[in-house]
Amino acid sequence: MLSRSEPRLWITACLHLCCLLGCGGAQNAKEVILLDSKAQQTELEWISYPPNGWEEISGLDENYIPIRTYQVCQVMESNQNNWLRTNWIEKGDAQRIFVELKFTLRDCNSLPGVVGTCKETFNLYYQETDSEVGRGLRENQYVKIDTIAADESFTQGDLGERKMKLNTEVRIIGPITRRGFYLAFQDVGACIALVSVKVYYKKCWSIIENLATFPDTVTGSEFSSLVEVEGMCVNDAEEEADNSPKMHCSAEGEWLVPIGKCICKAGFHQKGDTCEPCGRGFYKSSSQDLQCSRCPAHSFNDREGSWRCDCEDGYYRALSDSPSVACTRPPSAPQNLVYNINQTTVNLEWSLPADTGGRNDVTYRVICRRCSWEPEECVPCGPNVGYSPAQSGLVDTYVSIVDLLAHANYTFEVEAVNGVSDLSRTQRLFASVSIATGQAAPSQVSEVIKEMVQQRSVQLSWQEPHQPNGVITEYEIKYYEKDQKDRIYSTVRSKSTSATVNNLKPSTAYVFQIRAFTEAGYGTFGPRLEITTKEEATGHEGMQGVTSVSVERFPTFTTRLTHLLCSVTCDRIGGVPHCGYSKADQEGDEELYFQFKFPGTKTYTDPETYEDPNRAVHQFAKELDASCIKIERVIGAGEFGEVCSGRLKLPGKRDMSVAIKTLKVGYTEKQRRDFLCEASIMGQFDHPNVVHLEGVVTRGKPVMIVIEYMENGSLDAFLRKHDGQFTVIQLVGMLRGIAAGMRYLADMGYVHRDLAARNILVNSNLVCKVSDFGLSRVIEDDPEAVYTTTGGKIPVRWTAPEAIQYRKFTSASDVWSYGIVMWEVMSYGERPYWDMSNQDVIKAIEEGYRLPAPMDCPPGLHQLMLDCWQKDRAERPKFDQIVGVLDKMIRNPNTLKTPVGTCTRPISPLLDQSTPDFAAFRSVGEWLEAVKMERYRDNFTAAGYSSLESVARMSIEDVMSLGITLVGHQKKIMSSIQTMRAQMLHLHGTGVQV
Ligand code: AMP
Repeated sequence: MLSRSEPRLWITACLHLCCLLGCGGAQNAKEVILLDSKAQQTELEWISYPPNGWEEISGLDENYIPIRTYQVCQVMESNQNNWLRTNWIEKGDAQRIFVELKFTLRDCNSLPGVVGTCKETFNLYYQETDSEVGRGLRENQYVKIDTIAADESFTQGDLGERKMKLNTEVRIIGPITRRGFYLAFQDVGACIALVSVKVYYKKCWSIIENLATFPDTVTGSEFSSLVEVEGMCVNDAEEEADNSPKMHCSAEGEWLVPIGKCICKAGFHQKGDTCEPCGRGFYKSSSQDLQCSRCPAHSFNDREGSWRCDCEDGYYRALSDSPSVACTRPPSAPQNLVYNINQTTVNLEWSLPADTGGRNDVTYRVICRRCSWEPEECVPCGPNVGYSPAQSGLVDTYVSIVDLLAHANYTFEVEAVNGVSDLSRTQRLFASVSIATGQAAPSQVSEVIKEMVQQRSVQLSWQEPHQPNGVITEYEIKYYEKDQKDRIYSTVRSKSTSATVNNLKPSTAYVFQIRAFTEAGYGTFGPRLEITTKEEATGHEGMQGVTSVSVERFPTFTTRLTHLLCSVTCDRIGGVPHCGYSKADQEGDEELYFQFKFPGTKTYTDPETYEDPNRAVHQFAKELDASCIKIERVIGAGEFGEVCSGRLKLPGKRDMSVAIKTLKVGYTEKQRRDFLCEASIMGQFDHPNVVHLEGVVTRGKPVMIVIEYMENGSLDAFLRKHDGQFTVIQLVGMLRGIAAGMRYLADMGYVHRDLAARNILVNSNLVCKVSDFGLSRVIEDDPEAVYTTTGGKIPVRWTAPEAIQYRKFTSASDVWSYGIVMWEVMSYGERPYWDMSNQDVIKAIEEGYRLPAPMDCPPGLHQLMLDCWQKDRAERPKFDQIVGVLDKMIRNPNTLKTPVGTCTRPISPLLDQSTPDFAAFRSVGEWLEAVKMERYRDNFTAAGYSSLESVARMSIEDVMSLGITLVGHQKKIMSSIQTMRAQMLHLHGTGVQV
């Protein structure tokens, strides 16, 4: 039988083992101990029931420190129920409680005689209470945690204690809802030594992670639960935006899953787990920056922990400047300020300031001050002055200041500014100029009121323009019928700010515009004012406004017409050549009517009919002051002297390019008369396609004729220079212009007599104008003119047969010449009839031959030429018809297409209007005779061209190889060969291979 002392023995031994097996090891840092039986050296005084059950026994651990244990070994008797209860354990903030038991348990087999009564397990219980409940023990109040069995039991053998095994079992309870609990051990007949009982829970201990502090955190109640914990930023750190720091405390007391972080505030940088201030001379402008940086240029700092550095004296930081950029200062003044004045506009220009202050946002602003003639008294210019592109914020180094007052003194200051200019209290630096504006035309008349509208008259009043810029001496009222197709303006003038316009049509919409006039000239017209006159009443009314205006109102044409038409009209009105205003007094206003009439029936006056040719000149040509003319260079030679180019500047008008024909020194009176005769004629014309006379200088030397300048000179040379460079439409456009000019001259009753491309001038816009006017002298002067049998010199190739034969010069003979001009134009200045002699030309024409179509000439145009070359002059088209035909062609460019194989021939024969029939020729000799080339008969024979068929195959090279060197003859022969070929094809339907 086992004595009670026996178990003690092995338990003592067990205590020594315990140290060997590490059961007294260091406490886990994550654990919070609620009860540790080993740690208590005094008696535990747990409750044991019945008293002979569990027994508290003292022992020593490896360090000979006494420990307390409980043992029980009632294995001999059945039905054991021995309870042992701990003292009350306050749970604190624990949720999940770990119970670690270390014990030894005796193997029942090693005990003789205990079969049936010996057990090898015990039960673990607990009871929750809010406080201690006394020392009574009621089994039914306990909740069973588990039955604990030993992994290892031991037997008592020779080596006794060595065979003892310490068991460690851990059980988890919770969550505990009351404030504390008791643990209880129920023995049902085992031999147990309870070496240690440890009760603890787990915690995640406070740490600093990502600059955030996470406090001690008790683990969750469940094994799998993670407790989310918010971190608190360490000193001088702040949470990263939208990324607050968090961690999770696991059931095992470990920190897991860090989220978010803290970062050091501006002025601080991270060092380990803390934020330290930036040192002196350093800054950190934002928490986002990692490091402190050295102060940028022109800034400093003598404090620690700064988020920015302060600017040195005289340096600034714009609001928009980041602390990382250098401190800057205002720019210096702009340099090289220059200006120019155009009436009331001042243009200023300058160059960059020498010092931009270290910034690249320099702009400029202009301060305008109007000064009295005393320079000190200047006032701001006010809102009426305009600045282009702007007054301030100028990026470029120029500005225009407009709408200044005329004849006023201004001071302009140009200041360069940058982003820190407004922060600086230092003196402004600017460049300045003082300027006096010039004379300027008045500004617009804009506030026009219709005072009264009648059937035939309209009364208007208006305000003086905002900026008269001088004394307004007159207003001009321009008006026209709104729906009129050809917009013809009429004008009325008034000295006051009101006027009545009479002689209007009833029920008609008119458009009125007014402008003011000062010594500086006209201002611009104000806005259009539309007024419809009243409906016509029965009976005669509406004329009451008209008093002394005795002439009908005539439409105003271009100012270029002025001197010509004025002279005509005035001549009619008063019989005295007088230009200008005729005064009229209308309804109290002093009105000035300026009237022109287009001379629809005007005829040309032959200056020869004037007894005094000087009078003719002054009748038709304006006498110019020689000081207005500047001769620049010689451009040609005329019969009477050099032709020069130069400038004409008439008072109040823009200066213009002109050609100046001069009369050479030592002239006779007849030469002078003949020279000026051209001006007397030209001065009568005003048409866009007739060269315009600007005036003459007769009262000084040299005597001059001043004509509009035609940049491209004479048409023949111009075309030769640009051979093949124009489209057919362009060429037809030129021809149309010449025809229009000729129509005008013909309508005026003027016969040109020397119409040829050399006498057409071309301006820079390719506008062709008829020139070279004169009487006999024109032709005398023309190098193309030759003496004919009828006497006098005639440009034979351009002249109609009747004019050659009996000097019948008419507009119809001009039409013939026009046909030749057409041919010259379409062949780019080819000489008509090439090098045929004048006699041959006269003869060929007489025999019915006509010039063939030039290369690439549309057939319609050649047909028009042939029409102009009708023998019967009455059959020739009139210039009016020619203009019509050409207009149609221009409108329908398809008619100008050249059919393949017609006009693409390199050269063409003289066309016989009676269609010579090559089939009629029996030999090459006969053919050569017919084309007036019989002189080459031997050449053809020698080369073996004996049949017309063989001739028809000849190329231009073949013709040249015969020794025919004259280009004209080559062309003539080649043209005839080609016609021959065409006829053969037509007759026999067979082509001729060349
Ligand atoms: P004329 O005496 O009219 O034949 O002029 C002689 C040359 O002077 C002409 O062939 C032109 O080259 C040139 N010429 C004459 N008038 C003008 C003009 N209005 N514009 C340009 N050049 C001209």
